[in-house]
Amino acid sequence: MKEFNITNDYCKRVWNETRAQYPDQEHFLQAVGLVLESLSPAVDSIRGLKENAVLERFVEPERIIMFRVPWVDDKGVPRVNRGYRVQFSSAIGPYKGGLRFSSEVNLDILKFLGFEQVLKNSLTTLPMGGAKGGSDFDSHGKSDAEVMRFCQSFMTELYRHIGADTDVPAGDKGVGSREVAYLFGQYKRIMNQFTGVLTGKWLSFGGSLVRPEATGYGLVYFVERMLASKNDGIEGKNVIISGDGNVATFAAQKLIRLGAKVLTLSDSTGFILDEDGIDEEKLNYVMAFRAERKKIDEYVKKYQKAKFFKGERPWKVKADIALPCATQDEIYLDDAKVMVANGVKIVGEGANMPTRAEAIECFIKSGVLFAPGKASNAGGVAVSGLEMTQNSERLHWTFEKVDNKLKSIMYGIHDNSAQTAKDFGCADNYVLGANIYGFKVVADAMMAQGLV
Ligand code: NDP
Repeated sequence: MKEFNITNDYCKRVWNETRAQYPDQEHFLQAVGLVLESLSPAVDSIRGLKENAVLERFVEPERIIMFRVPWVDDKGVPRVNRGYRVQFSSAIGPYKGGLRFSSEVNLDILKFLGFEQVLKNSLTTLPMGGAKGGSDFDSHGKSDAEVMRFCQSFMTELYRHIGADTDVPAGDKGVGSREVAYLFGQYKRIMNQFTGVLTGKWLSFGGSLVRPEATGYGLVYFVERMLASKNDGIEGKNVIISGDGNVATFAAQKLIRLGAKVLTLSDSTGFILDEDGIDEEKLNYVMAFRAERKKIDEYVKKYQKAKFFKGERPWKVKADIALPCATQDEIYLDDAKVMVANGVKIVGEGANMPTRAEAIECFIKSGVLFAPGKASNAGGVAVSGLEMTQNSERLHWTFEKVDNKLKSIMYGIHDNSAQTAKDFGCADNYVLGANIYGFKVVADAMMAQGLV
């Protein structure tokens, strides 16, 4: 792991204690190390942190729930998975964060995601605490009936720990609208209550317009604002994107509509490069075959001028902007060096922590504008927050209204992060700016509420 440049003594002590406590939680430690590094120049200027043990509490989840999830497959064979909910912080609102169903899920990954979510939700300025959960269940190759039985069993335990004013989960990798619907149905059945206990619901039962598009669109709004801060714009820019899921495809859609040229998309099998640019018609084709759970090489079967690179990621392709939108640990130091040499000017994280700490350092030192996921991919949770508001009001807002609010939230996150970075003498360091801005709000609430 990268040696973090944690210069403040209080941050250093908390870092050493966290490392000693959780030596095996590599992703969680990387997230904590990066945040403590960013907070180092700021903590002495925030009164009362040490006296109130704020940092010690900030890195420790309020509650972790772990449970077994028994279910029966289509052959009648009993199966058992592990379920989790990490309720990290309720300082500024009910716990809020997605559920991930994927074989990679473990406590380390969920603690890192929950920790990041606390700051991300704070950055949106909406009243939402931070959480994350999920299971090591992998829906690939499972029938609808199996997914439904799994979701029902998962919720049969989770329901007692969540609620519209307690903890409001949403989707994440492996948990799309199908899974959210099954989870919602089971919650409603057990509780006999129709409440906004989950977000990412279908429109017909309390979902919000723009929620599917929100993370990808929000990412592009953030990048648009970064460019504007340099008197530049998106039109005509070449963009490389990883992933072909929810975040990647809606980021691509917005970019295409704003006149950028999208060159790549990827999945876990490799990436495709289309030098002519992926237009809306081609993108619709990707969305359609992805809905049928087909892999990305399907693209080159139809568009034969495009190329498929098996088992590779798109970072060697020359471009102005790179948007990693698949998963964590996608860009390593070697990739970053190639991207810098290729003239990439902006890296915006659509996924959560796709960039390794060493690679982030390389980007920042090389003058590449780097947007950390907790800021640039906050559009999804922001619209989830707006979905909660609509559910409380028992109203549906128009697409335009939600989209405008999303844009203004993303611009706000950008401006608050940029201004904070500037205030601490580190202009353009969005990592530092986002971490300090998000933390200050949470720390303030924690101190006000006493030692809880
Ligand atoms: P999807 O499940 O829709 O898409 C995930 C994409 O990543 C797919 O293309 C998938 O390919 C690819 N992928 C998964 N694992 C790997 C791997 N090990 N190596 C290479 N590619 C991989 O997820 P989302 O688009 O919803 O989420 C993507 C990222 O964005 C995640 O990090 C998520 O936490 C983050 N995020 C999502 C939000 C949302 O609103 N959806 C909100 C904020 C963050 P394959 O199908 O082959 O597995």
